Amino acid sequence: KQDKRESLFVLTKWASQYFVDQLWDTEEGRSIGLSYFKERGYREDIIRKFALGYSSDKWEALVTAAEKAGFQQAYIKEIGLAIQREDQTLYDRFRGRVIFPIFNVTGRAIGFGGRTLKTEKSVPKYVNSPESEIYHKSDVLYGLNLAKKAIADADICYLVEGYADVISMHQAGVENVVSSSGTSLTSGQIRLISRYTKNVTILYDGDAAGIKASLRGTDMLLEEGLNVKVLLFPDGHDPDSYVQKFGSAHFKEYITKHPEDFVFFKTNILLKDSGNDPVKRAEVIRDVVESISLIPDEIKVSLYIRQCSTLLDMEERILLSELNKMRINKS
Ligand code: ATP
Ligand code: MN
Ligand code: MN
Ligand code: MN
Repeated sequence: KQDKRESLFVLTKWASQYFVDQLWDTEEGRSIGLSYFKERGYREDIIRKFALGYSSDKWEALVTAAEKAGFQQAYIKEIGLAIQREDQTLYDRFRGRVIFPIFNVTGRAIGFGGRTLKTEKSVPKYVNSPESEIYHKSDVLYGLNLAKKAIADADICYLVEGYADVISMHQAGVENVVSSSGTSLTSGQIRLISRYTKNVTILYDGDAAGIKASLRGTDMLLEEGLNVKVLLFPDGHDPDSYVQKFGSAHFKEYITKHPEDFVFFKTNILLKDSGNDPVKRAEVIRDVVESISLIPDEIKVSLYIRQCSTLLDMEERILLSELNKMRINKS
């Protein structure tokens, strides 16, 4: 079993290098993939640092090369680099896409994300490796292998939605950043972060989906005792588009000045939606108190209750009794 895992690691490492070579050493890769990255504003040293690659548009380019290199079909399929046809033959999962290899915390490649270069809505923007014996999505944070030291040094971790956000922030000199790759946070990912810091700032996309995502999954961060702040970018920007548009100096200033405490952020967003409808307002109050009730530090709980009492225009005493009821129901 250990042998098999090791073989999968070897194959993934080979594939990662294969995609890199495709990007730099083939005409198709250079003219399509490399020029795509350059148009996005990525520098060559950053493209190399993240081992970005390219997958040929042909149906069996990787499969053929991998077999020639001596890899077994069963492993190529199992790791998800290829998909099996009805006649048992294999074809490449990643075709005509730029490749973002995904590394584990020790820096070994375990999977891939492939971005389409097409703009049609019918084509999925990203295709990702499936789960495998070496790739468990819920335990992986994109970029952590390159970020862990910076996270510990700065004692804060920026959490973003996408691959491109991590890469552009590195290029801007902000290296304490990881991505959950578009899925909501898992407890495994949160435990990974809390090895390095207790302070997390969420930099989600400034679109409706990003705002929703920042409210979801975040209660779990509070539950783990992390200090959570949130920052939204204006006009639907994500960290990548914002830094590419306004430059790194402005970006760094923005992410230093604008983070807002998560509990207050959530309170304000929910309040805006509820207006003066008492039923909706009651729901908002319970929702906020529920978030606060998850915080393990009693001093923080008491401070949040006091401040939210002002924000929500509701007596502290009532908020506290609601909080205690929730805790009793939970235990
Ligand atoms: P780009 O800047 O290249 O357009 P993005 O990272 O801003 O990409 P989002 O739409 O914000 O893309 O999605 C965030 C992340 O969610 C992506 O980086 C990717 O990991 C994941 N994702 C997005 N679309 C898909 C999809 N169709 N299938 C699987 N994962 C996806
Ligand atoms: Mn988005
Ligand atoms: Mn995005
Ligand atoms: Mn983006």
